[in-house]
Amino acid sequence: MAEPVFEDRVPAGERVGILPLGALDRLLDYKAPEGGCSPGAFVEVPLGPRKIVGVVWGPGTGEVPEARLRPVARILDAPPLRAPMREFLGRAADYTLTPLPAMVRLATRAPGLTEGQVTHNVYRLGPREAGRMTDARTRVLAVLRDFPDRSFTLGELASQAGVGTAVIKGLVTQGAVVEEEAPRDRPYPVLDLGAPGVPLTPDQMLSAAALRIGAEAHTYNTTLLKGVTGSGKTEVYLEAVAETLRQGRQALVLLPEIALTGAFLARVEHRFGAPAAEWHSGMTQTERRRLWRMAATGGASLVVGARSALFLPFRDLGLVVVDEEHDTSYKQEDGVLYNARDMAVLRASIEKSQVILASATPCLESWYNAQTGKYARLTLPARVGLAVLPTVKAVDMRLEEVTRGNWVGPTLTEAVAQRLEREEQSLLFLNRRGYAPVTLCRSCGHQLGCPHCDARLVEHRFMRRLMCHQCGETFPMPVACPDCGAEGKLAPVGPGVERLAEEVAALFPTARTAVLSSDLYGSAKSLKEAIEQIADGAADIIIGTQLVAKGHNFPKLTLAGVIDADLGLYGSDLRAAERTFALMRQVSGRAGRADRPGEALLQTYQPHHPVIQAILKGDDEGFWRAELDGRRMAGMPPFSRLAGIILSSEDAQEVMDKAVEMARHKDPLTKIGAEVWGPAPAPIARVRGRHRVRLLVKADRTAPLQDALARWAAQFRFPSDLRLTMDIDPQSFM
Ligand code: ADP
Ligand code: ZN
Repeated sequence: MAEPVFEDRVPAGERVGILPLGALDRLLDYKAPEGGCSPGAFVEVPLGPRKIVGVVWGPGTGEVPEARLRPVARILDAPPLRAPMREFLGRAADYTLTPLPAMVRLATRAPGLTEGQVTHNVYRLGPREAGRMTDARTRVLAVLRDFPDRSFTLGELASQAGVGTAVIKGLVTQGAVVEEEAPRDRPYPVLDLGAPGVPLTPDQMLSAAALRIGAEAHTYNTTLLKGVTGSGKTEVYLEAVAETLRQGRQALVLLPEIALTGAFLARVEHRFGAPAAEWHSGMTQTERRRLWRMAATGGASLVVGARSALFLPFRDLGLVVVDEEHDTSYKQEDGVLYNARDMAVLRASIEKSQVILASATPCLESWYNAQTGKYARLTLPARVGLAVLPTVKAVDMRLEEVTRGNWVGPTLTEAVAQRLEREEQSLLFLNRRGYAPVTLCRSCGHQLGCPHCDARLVEHRFMRRLMCHQCGETFPMPVACPDCGAEGKLAPVGPGVERLAEEVAALFPTARTAVLSSDLYGSAKSLKEAIEQIADGAADIIIGTQLVAKGHNFPKLTLAGVIDADLGLYGSDLRAAERTFALMRQVSGRAGRADRPGEALLQTYQPHHPVIQAILKGDDEGFWRAELDGRRMAGMPPFSRLAGIILSSEDAQEVMDKAVEMARHKDPLTKIGAEVWGPAPAPIARVRGRHRVRLLVKADRTAPLQDALARWAAQFRFPSDLRLTMDIDPQSFM
């Protein structure tokens, strides 16, 4: 659990608790070094024969006797973790039942802590005249004159001027250019906050004003910014970003998808004359190191990133924007299980900052928090300019004639044909990667499955392989059925985007189609480029998975066709309806953003299903109210809290026995009034050869759930190969 946080410098020789950044999961006691050390400082300490890196965390445990205390070896030249950051990490660890060192590791993933400030040589104009001038020399001096504020490295200057490095060195010898040592981790370009944005509409103005007041307040507050796609949410929250930066504080914008950062960076650059600093898994170590240090020292004022950016050591974080806040990718589902949306609120409450949750379809919890007044709420009711919301219609598939192995009905086909004629784009949405979700033997009925998982293999024709979407392993397509041996009888069943692309090519042989599916692009960068090209009009028909629902802007798109709107309706978890609703709304919202009206067609076999009806009516408030009533009746979140308990082991018997034992000895949980359900084999009962069993714990909103869970789990001894995961506020019930 979190240690008390203390701020005073610890005098030399006194006991301090060091939190190691390596694999150890507890505080270690040392003596403060000569000159003392401050809480939060990064240090090197001896551990046996080795030296390890850690953070000065607190007063120490007292476990090591005074006489055996070893001193801290060295204080590292890295910005210390500030008290609010340490408090955040401690409370996040408590909330998610994560060992504190594992939580601190999330905040110290930047490399180079032990290196200190690394320097390199940079070049600027010198005081003297160059003797003999050549073309090459003139070009070098011209570059330096043109960019007086930039510090060029030798390589950068040479390539910018189109000369060899010897030319520059020659100018240095003559004093016309000066070579000097500078820190390699340079601050990011300063944003121009004076530059005006687009003139806002009256609704936008009201919202922006409220958010600016929030930024000036220097107190914690959370606002749900709800508005349909294209209503200008980004434009509005950029006003809050500008005000936060004017206050001398930093701002962080979280996006659910790396592929969205490109468009966002361009927008920031357009508005403020310089891009934001970006943070995501695709960055180099050098870039991470630079941003980590610049966040800590204030050399980065606006950061855009994936959920892990929330763990950057900002010097003074004034604003966190969680864009598309309903997106499920904000929940980290492996390693440390946390929801970046909730952690953003926690961090902001400690840092006294503002949170903006932006979405067209907020998650039920956020909507409820806004209803009850826990969050403020701002609504942008309309699209900007001429753009109107698309009309949404259901296509009753019971009345459509579709031949076997095809999925695009005549109504949708006709609608796409119209778009082709008008040179507009169409989107066909199907949330299934690959060619076909099932491969079946027509001789014996066997379905190809993954040998390690309780999952069917998905054919990926593009790769010419079968893939398990649970463990990611791929296999060649067999010639004969592995069960009955019949040859040539294996057949694809059901559609994936690749198969849909085949159907579309047959329907519209001259149209240019593009498939947007996360697995078809080698890197985040190539995906980003593909999206930009498509937005520019490089495709007539876009075939996409969930990826396309996430806020990309395709100005020429006027038709969104949903191949199977029923797909998500019967999920096994409590958010199935909510997710389908959000996804369908997001997909529909892709159409008609610019000056042409859009249309969305939902192919469904159940046009009267309440979720489909809510989507058609565009009655989102009504939908949320109905969902909320359902949750209230069932006593489900947000009217209670859940924890998913997952045990896994290679030994099926062992894991079930242990789960049964846990269910029997549930006193610590019943004492706080919690209910325990299960154990039961998980819906995906085996992954990577490990058998999985689940329990579900439900408690009152105010009950001390984490504390009880920790005491409950502490009663048991777990065999070393058995893994126990406790998922607080689970999103996935698989
Ligand atoms: P959202 O984030 O709600 O999807 P955006 O902020 O991306 O909406 O706005 C959608 C489009 O409309 C963008 O191209 C944006 O530049 C433009 N836009 C937003 N507000 C205005 C405005 N007041 N005047 C002109 N264009 C605007
Ligand atoms: Zn598998």
